[in-house]
Amino acid sequence: MKTLTAMLGVILPGLALGGSLAAAPLSRPYLVEHYDVHLTPDLARKRMAGEATIKLTSRIERLDVVELDVGDMQIASVKEGQAARYFERKEKTLMVVLPTPVYKNDHRAITIRYTAVPAKGLVFFSDQVYTSFFTSDWMPCDEHPEDRATLTLTIDVPPQFKVAASGHPDGAKWTLDTPDPAFLYAFAAGDFAESTKTVDGVTLRVLGKADVFDDTVSAMHFLVERSGKPYPLDTYTQVFTHGTVEQEAVGMTLLPEKYAGELVKDPQNLNLLAHELAHQWYGVKILAKDWSDFWLSEGMVTFLADAFLEQRFGKARYDREIADSKRIYDNLRAQGRDRPLFFTDWQTPQQAGGPLPYHKGAYVLSELRRTLTDEVFWRALRAYTNGHWGGTVTSDDLEAAMASVAGKDLSKQLTKMFQEWIY
Ligand SMILES: [Zn+2]
Repeated sequence: MKTLTAMLGVILPGLALGGSLAAAPLSRPYLVEHYDVHLTPDLARKRMAGEATIKLTSRIERLDVVELDVGDMQIASVKEGQAARYFERKEKTLMVVLPTPVYKNDHRAITIRYTAVPAKGLVFFSDQVYTSFFTSDWMPCDEHPEDRATLTLTIDVPPQFKVAASGHPDGAKWTLDTPDPAFLYAFAAGDFAESTKTVDGVTLRVLGKADVFDDTVSAMHFLVERSGKPYPLDTYTQVFTHGTVEQEAVGMTLLPEKYAGELVKDPQNLNLLAHELAHQWYGVKILAKDWSDFWLSEGMVTFLADAFLEQRFGKARYDREIADSKRIYDNLRAQGRDRPLFFTDWQTPQQAGGPLPYHKGAYVLSELRRTLTDEVFWRALRAYTNGHWGGTVTSDDLEAAMASVAGKDLSKQLTKMFQEWIY
């Protein structure tokens, strides 16, 4: 299904103009190479002026229209260089007509000026502004998860404000120089307390009042060891915001300041901290190919947070966490809500976002670990991670990595387990 719609998108890009395919996660007939975005938030008026220059290349012979995700933002102008370009709104997308087409593998830049207002993806307080998923609510972009681009982000705020964004600070800018999915970009700016610490070449930053360095370092060590890959960037910022956001993003995590308070009362309540950090490996650097395989992000990091808690606090804690996931899964099953973990009816994050990918996913991974034995399971995880670093994955890829490490006897059991739980 995915392949067919993707092909339609390439062969008949004009179809997307009708909007009939706009909801499906199909690849666009172009690839964004770089976003250069300048944001000027106005906290008092809860508005943000933006200017985005988008460098793209064509994947098809002749690209005449560029479709971008723009949420509910107000578009003021679209230009190529100094020349204004005709554009049209189609619900949450923007169609830009190019008088001179972009030919295959050629490059083009368009500049969009716009205004963003409070939306699901953009949250304002009197002293903070931050993003909450839905990148197209604050910058025009191609939100298709498979497509990765680099980013430069400049945020104009009063000098006393602290800023965090995807990438690393580079003077007044934030620069992301490894291509990552635009739908995982984020920023936060506000009157935050700031603390930083450098560990193993990674700058850890905390915005907001929270004492989480030691726990973050210990979770990071665990994840580096188990995945076989270093933390992917050179800066990791945890932002503790007003509000309720729990968001993994490229190079940063947004959490509610309430969670920092809970950690003071219960210092072992580290699931969320470890879960969000683990997303930097599984969910950002290695991304499920589409929402059908969402469990490869959410089930994986839920399981890895449990395994980190095991290393930190002992096997009884791990057993308790896995038993919790199993109980949640059993309840879903009793309500007739069980699904295969790979489920093609999930086409949107809303459909895939229920508890099943998290808890059935974590439980099934714990069963795979038990069956394969620790030695084989962790070696397989490293093979999987190494083989798909910076790419997208399906359940097949995980099964293949596990089979490549498991012996013949275990391979048979593995096939059985994947058939029973995943397909
Ligand atoms: Zn998650």
